[in-house]
Amino acid sequence: MSFNNLYKSVLSKDLCTSCGLCESVCPKDIIKINSNTPKLLSTTEEMQCGDCSLCYDVCPGFDPETPKSEMNIFGRRRTEKERWLGIFRRTINGYSKDKEIYENSASGGCSTTSMLAAKEALNLDYLIVAGRNPKKKWLGSPAIATNKEEIMVSTQSKYQLFPHLKGLKPYIKERANVRIGISGLPCQVQAIRKLQALDHPVGEWARKHILFVIEIACSSNTTFVGTETLIKDQLNLNPKDVEKVSYREGEYPGDFIVQDNKNVKHKINLWEAVREFKAFKTHRCMSCGDWMSGLADVSFCDGDPNIFASSINPSAIDKQGKMVIRTEIGEKVINYAIDHNRLEYWEGEIKTMNLGLERKKNRRATYERLDCDISEPPIPGYLDEDEIVSDERLLQISGSPKDK
Ligand SMILES: Cc1cc2nc3c(=O)[nH]c(=O)nc-3n(C[C@H](O)[C@H](O)[C@H](O)COP(=O)(O)OP(=O)(O)OC[C@H]3O[C@@H](n4cnc5c(N)ncnc54)[C@H](O)[C@@H]3O)c2cc1C
Repeated sequence: MSFNNLYKSVLSKDLCTSCGLCESVCPKDIIKINSNTPKLLSTTEEMQCGDCSLCYDVCPGFDPETPKSEMNIFGRRRTEKERWLGIFRRTINGYSKDKEIYENSASGGCSTTSMLAAKEALNLDYLIVAGRNPKKKWLGSPAIATNKEEIMVSTQSKYQLFPHLKGLKPYIKERANVRIGISGLPCQVQAIRKLQALDHPVGEWARKHILFVIEIACSSNTTFVGTETLIKDQLNLNPKDVEKVSYREGEYPGDFIVQDNKNVKHKINLWEAVREFKAFKTHRCMSCGDWMSGLADVSFCDGDPNIFASSINPSAIDKQGKMVIRTEIGEKVINYAIDHNRLEYWEGEIKTMNLGLERKKNRRATYERLDCDISEPPIPGYLDEDEIVSDERLLQISGSPKDK
């Protein structure tokens, strides 16, 4: 076993999710992922991997190992009815009562509020969230937060793939005696759960020290080239002059806004950015079988079922999020946030259509019917048989102006 296995089963098949956990767990520090693909530092060092297979063991690229993680977390596997949403206790809608978090958030700030609540309720030391690269400010990067001021860099969805789980690296290397909470995308949560399941000292560390995990739903992500192209080609800006990129800024559901070093803001409508991003997706993202991994303590998605349509025709729907509470710890944290007056909430079912979920279901079904390499589904052998609606058609049904 070695990096070769990762290469053969995942990298050469375009199944890397760019989560970055392979670099974080490599005991010899010979794997580096700088943008979207992990590399071995030197081919001559390949042999040094020896018996180690940690990078492959934690990789969610080909096999997210959902059934195994579900047995560990819930003591059962999901049923066919639970195919897309996974196992959960209850779902509620809501928004943050903190005005600053609410205004800066993607869909009401429930994720940010629950991370801060978890810090207090579970006595966590560090929160690992999605931030920005301090030098190249248009690139995403993991950020470590210990308080509200620090977590504010992570508000809003970053429609950009970056190796978020490199944020765990210093703690894993030191086997640090700290209590961590982390938010991530579904594939990143799958990687964390695979790490926690390992019969290895690093798995034992992860079980003991990663104590709260949330996820945000993901229809598909976009490589950093998507963001770079919008900045360069659509806004005619030099990325070096960029101070801040926001994907959901301003009036709900927000727009793609780039602030330059003279504090001038440049805007692209969210729905137009979503369309442009279609050209910058990886095979792994396009063929992904999970909208939510179902393995987080709590999962979050937009309360508005169609932010694409809301971006074209501002809707009557108020900014709000949906919370899918799955575990006892998730329930404890959300109750803490409610009891401490941090979250406004009401009962809300998750039956209604969500455009991101519909796009994902249709894309996955398309790939399942092709003869190509795709990731393992959450229910072994179970394939969706619904009639496929093309992505373009779904966007048009959603109200996309045909001439734009
Ligand atoms: C690529 C992508 C696709 C999405 N697809 C859908 C969809 O199909 N349907 C849907 O309903 N919702 C989708 N979402 C989620 C939605 O946009 C909101 O992020 C979610 O509702 C949480 O909103 P909030 O106000 O609670 O989050 P905020 O309080 O604004 O906090 C945002 C949270 O998301 C995390 N985060 C943001 N970007 C990333 C990233 N790139 N990698 C890792 N973590 C990140 C931050 O760390 C933070 O914890 C998507 C998000 C992303 C990034």
